[in-house]
Amino acid sequence: MIPNLCSFVGDTPLVELEVPFQNTAIRLFAKLEMFNPGGSVKDRPALFMIQQAIAEGKITKGSHLVESSSGNLAIAIAMIARQMKLEFTAVIDPNITKSNRDLIETYGAKIELVEEKDEEGGYLRSRIRRVRRLLDELPNAVWLNQYANPNNRRSHYEGVGAEIVRDMPIEPTHAFIGVSTCGTIMGVARRLREAWPTVRIVAVDVVGSVIFGSPGGKRRLPGIGASRVPEQLDTCEIDEVVYVTDWESMQGCYRLVREEGLLAGGSSGSIIAAIEKAAPRLPRGAVIVTIMPDRGERYLDTVYSRNWLPESERVRQPLRESHKILAK
Ligand code: PMP
Repeated sequence: MIPNLCSFVGDTPLVELEVPFQNTAIRLFAKLEMFNPGGSVKDRPALFMIQQAIAEGKITKGSHLVESSSGNLAIAIAMIARQMKLEFTAVIDPNITKSNRDLIETYGAKIELVEEKDEEGGYLRSRIRRVRRLLDELPNAVWLNQYANPNNRRSHYEGVGAEIVRDMPIEPTHAFIGVSTCGTIMGVARRLREAWPTVRIVAVDVVGSVIFGSPGGKRRLPGIGASRVPEQLDTCEIDEVVYVTDWESMQGCYRLVREEGLLAGGSSGSIIAAIEKAAPRLPRGAVIVTIMPDRGERYLDTVYSRNWLPESERVRQPLRESHKILAK
């Protein structure tokens, strides 16, 4: 069969990085998800959720996809919908970055901007309400629902998780994975544990995210963290959480460019910052595997813009709690 654009989702490179850490004996392997055609790991759940819905007869010719996403998932669905000749409407809020909005619109998707805040002071509930309204109003509308759709985490179990198991040259002691909907960490943790039962799964979250019970607060970095606990999170799959700030993530991004020539997205910088923080307590000889979720080009006006963070946030503030071991 002749390949099309969607045939190139997945099978991304696994490379060894040489970023130095405080504990220099660490070896770090990274799955470069920016190599997906839509530029992020989210091509995987987008394609998998759509393909499964097609197989179940829920998406047919003439279907109109609807999803609440301001980020990589919306970009991925926009690309795949275009390739498959399906309509797509992305429900977004004013926090969307300019480059993400431009990308979604350039792929030809429609935008529904939700401006009214919900009762929690965020936009998530208002966005879901708008999705439900669109499902009533639009003919042939289908909601993929990344937060609750089991095919989100399954795509990572079958995809990036399986590829890591296949491609790692040695057994990893730790996996560091950024979290938002938690689809990636749920799928990957399960797959890695089946292959390597003692691997420690470390979630990388941002200060101000409520996923693991910390208080909510201001967050700027797109893609990582959440203002609501995701339905699909099962903390039993995760051993610990390391928290990083926007500033630390930004520094991590610059380190990747400096040391590796790798222009990665903001949450890849969060991973580097989290490993740096955890390094003093990691065993010598630790072998870490991680996932770098997306490309840096779409962050030129945020993370890679020197004026992105106000002066007051450009310091390494001592964190009250930067590391949490999860009870089993
Ligand atoms: N990093 C980036 C750049 C992302 O777009 C996402 C997905 N929002 C994540 C990390 C976290 O992935 P997940 O939603 O699967 O937890």
